[in-house]
Amino acid sequence: MKPVPRPTPETQPFWDGTAAGELRIQRCMACARHYFYPRPGCPHCGSADVEWVRVSGRATFCRDAGRCSRLQVGWCGGRV
Ligand SMILES: [Zn+2]
Repeated sequence: MKPVPRPTPETQPFWDGTAAGELRIQRCMACARHYFYPRPGCPHCGSADVEWVRVSGRATFCRDAGRCSRLQVGWCGGRV
């Protein structure tokens, strides 16, 4: 069982998206990588210059991390 996160100011847009039937993740504007789960800064390069983007529920991302290949409305295993 994976822990269920609680909404926080950083993750609220994600939960708002969930409520709207959308999947929203964050994208770093500095290195152009997507990441999940929500956090204030990019886990790849440390930049705080990030934006929220809407993706499909089956979007593939975190390719650069080489660990996670697919988001299935759960936690991405590609943490760096
Ligand atoms: Zn980055």
